[in-house]
Amino acid sequence: MSTQRERVGLIGIGSMGWPMAARLVQAGYAVTVFDAVPGQAQKFAQEVGGQAAATCAALAAQSDIIFTMLPTSAIVEQVLSGPDGVLAGLRAGSVVVEMSSGVPAHTQRLATAVAAAGGQMVDAPVSGGVPRARTGELAIMFGGPAATLERVRPALSAMGSSITAVGDVGSAHAMKALNNLVSAGGFLIGVEAMLIGQQFGLDPNVIVDVLNASTGMNNATQKKFKQFVLSRQFNSGFGLDLMVKDLGIALGIATDTGTPTPFASLCRELWAAAGKSLGPGQDHTAVARLSEQLAGVELANKQD
Ligand code: NAD
Repeated sequence: MSTQRERVGLIGIGSMGWPMAARLVQAGYAVTVFDAVPGQAQKFAQEVGGQAAATCAALAAQSDIIFTMLPTSAIVEQVLSGPDGVLAGLRAGSVVVEMSSGVPAHTQRLATAVAAAGGQMVDAPVSGGVPRARTGELAIMFGGPAATLERVRPALSAMGSSITAVGDVGSAHAMKALNNLVSAGGFLIGVEAMLIGQQFGLDPNVIVDVLNASTGMNNATQKKFKQFVLSRQFNSGFGLDLMVKDLGIALGIATDTGTPTPFASLCRELWAAAGKSLGPGQDHTAVARLSEQLAGVELANKQD
C-alpha cells in the first residue's frame, strides 16, 4: 500500500485554524494555507512551515484535501464559489472538509455545488477550543460517507483525539450547534449560581471548587470560570459573536423540526442580548458581565 501522504490545504488561519494547520505541519503533511488577512498565511509559513497560497483557487489546485476553518457558512460559500475561490481550482476527486461551525442546510447546498465541480464535501466541526487545537486533542464530529472518513482520518487524527461519525453531510454541523447550546446553557446557569451564592455570602472560588467535586460540574465550572471569569481575563479565544451564531443555528434546527424549546430560546436570547450590550469583539466568557449587570454586582475573586 502506498504510504504517500495526501497534500492538504487549510483556509482560515485564525484562532483555531492556525494551531490546527500547525498540527498538520508537525504531522509531516505538505500544507498550503490561505487567509483573507493580508500577510497572515505568509506569517504562518515563515513561523510554522508549509506554504502560503495567493488565492483559494491556487490552494485548491495543489491540495487533495482542503480544510476550511472560517467564521460562518456565508463566508465558506464565498471562499468556495466566489472569484478565485476553491471551485475555480478544484482538482477532480479532491475533498473539502468543512471544519467551521456551520448551518446544516447551507452545508448540504454547498456539498451539491462541490459535487457538481467534481469533488466531494463533508463537514467535520470541532469542540475543545484553542487549548485542545494546540495539543491536537479536539473532539471532531464527522458528517459524510464512511469511505471519505477513512480517507481523511489520518489528517483529522493530527488535529483531534476523538472522531465521531454522526450521519450524512450536514449532520455534524447540527451536532456541533447542539453541543454549543448545552455548553452555553451550562455557562449561564453557572454564572447565575455564583452570583446567588456570592450574595448569600459564599466565595465564588469555593463555589467553583464544590461544583467541580459535585454533580453541578460542567465544562464552564472546570475550564472557564476561574480561568477566564473570576480572573477577569475574558480571553478564551472563542468569540461571543460566534457563540451567538451557533445558538442561532441550534434554534433554527428547532424551528425547522417543529421542536418546542422554551429553555433553549431563553438561553439564545440572553447570549444575543449580551452580544448587543457588550458590543463587538468580545470573548464569549464576557457573557458573565451581562448576568453581573442584571444582578447589579460583580463576581469577586477573593484569591487575588
Ligand atoms: P477567527 O475569527 O479567529 O478566525 C477565522 C479566520 O478566517 C480569520 O483569520 C479570518 O481572517 C479568516 N477569514 C475570514 N473571512 C475569510 C475569507 N473570506 N477568506 C479567507 N479567510 C477568511 O475564528 P475562530 O475562533 O478560529 O473560529 C473559526 C470557526 O471555528 C468558527 O466557525 C467557530 O464558530 C468555530 N470554532 C471556534 C472555536 C474557538 O474556540 N475559537 C472552537 C470550536 C469551533
